[in-house]
Amino acid sequence: MKVPASTKSVMVCQNLPRGKRGRWLSWERDFDFLPGQIVGVTDDPNRPPRWYSLASGNKDSWASILFTPVDSGELSPILSRLVPGDRIWITPPQGSFLDKKKQAVWVATGTGVAPFLAMARSGFAGTRVLVQGARYLEDLYFREEWQKRLGKNYIACCTREQGVFDGRVTRYLESQKWPMDTHFFLCGSSEMVVDARDLLISQGIPFSQIVAEVYF
Ligand SMILES: Cc1cc2nc3c(=O)[nH]c(=O)nc-3n(C[C@H](O)[C@H](O)[C@H](O)COP(=O)(O)OP(=O)(O)OC[C@H]3O[C@@H](n4cnc5c(N)ncnc54)[C@H](O)[C@@H]3O)c2cc1C
Repeated sequence: MKVPASTKSVMVCQNLPRGKRGRWLSWERDFDFLPGQIVGVTDDPNRPPRWYSLASGNKDSWASILFTPVDSGELSPILSRLVPGDRIWITPPQGSFLDKKKQAVWVATGTGVAPFLAMARSGFAGTRVLVQGARYLEDLYFREEWQKRLGKNYIACCTREQGVFDGRVTRYLESQKWPMDTHFFLCGSSEMVVDARDLLISQGIPFSQIVAEVYF
């Protein structure tokens, strides 16, 4: 067994497509977690788990993750083919990507929006701002829900299609004058996280106010 002893087997109850290539995978929730935490997931106790942010609310009856299969990846293509009734192995939730601030800006690209979805669906959205980026409009995951939840505090950015802010999330961040006490939570690829962090620091935001979760 390559999974920790605390890992348990659960049954998949949903595996739905989202956007061009995204998947929304769910199982029955019988554990507590803090929004922003991750779980290790695998289809086989002999295959090391990969990390995924919990994307559902912490009072929802199902636990869910949002992921995109990586073409050359070992696990994610397998996860994308699972059907209800299949079994997966789940580690206990862990991680410290937790937003305890009252006022913050969330920045996400691709499936990096997952922890913010968990936070919003757990009642933590308040007056927070979400800057969400994707290449294509349909990969702005849960865009309608964000529009309803956050109104003008939701900024969608797209690099290959028109209709929302034209460009990367970093271009949007650069176009704004942020109060110096703003806290930022960044989640997605290392490229986005590094670019956004460098940019915010160059704008005078203290390093200590920038928290990041890097997926790859
Ligand atoms: C803390 C943390 C949280 C994560 N949360 C999520 C999440 O909520 N949703 C999600 O989709 N992924 C998430 N990931 C990435 C996930 O753990 C896997 O790395 C991903 O699903 C690929 O696994 P694999 O076994 O298919 O690929 P592997 O065989 O393990 O790796 C193949 C290669 O793909 C690269 N890679 C990983 N993810 C991507 C990607 N999205 N696009 C392009 N290349 C990639 C890896 O760097 C590696 O070089 C998270 C990673 C970490 C560290």
